[in-house]
Amino acid sequence: MSHPTVKDHGQCQCGAFKIEIDGSPMRMASCHCRDCQQASGTGHMNIVFIDEQNVRKSGELTGYAATTDSGNTYTRYFCPTCGSRVYGENTLRPGIAAIPVGVFEDRSWFKADAVVYCRNRDAWDHSDTDVPNFDAMPPPA
Ligand SMILES: [Zn+2]
Ligand SMILES: [Zn+2]
Repeated sequence: MSHPTVKDHGQCQCGAFKIEIDGSPMRMASCHCRDCQQASGTGHMNIVFIDEQNVRKSGELTGYAATTDSGNTYTRYFCPTCGSRVYGENTLRPGIAAIPVGVFEDRSWFKADAVVYCRNRDAWDHSDTDVPNFDAMPPPA
């Protein structure tokens, strides 16, 4: 699935890291996996997936790499000063940036096209039920 072109920009909480996107996201998803819950400190993350060639970023980041349940490596990057989670990469999808949507200024363009790891969705946490909901990660499209 592809989306209309998105042009937006944003930064981490302290402003040391800045990011811009200009391109067509390949996917937008809400993820309830345990890694997203622990990394975000809340029920799920809303993430936009876009070719890294459509991303410009500046500023130092620190990464934390973890093995996903499919055996790939997901590296989550955060600002070493303020701890904001601002960027991710998965060896499952080389060249594709996974960006938590809260980093951006506008965000009105976000609309999840899938919700994944719904088996971990807490009763108090809400995500879109009008789009495909998967118990875990669906096979790559
Ligand atoms: Zn920062
Ligand atoms: Zn996740």
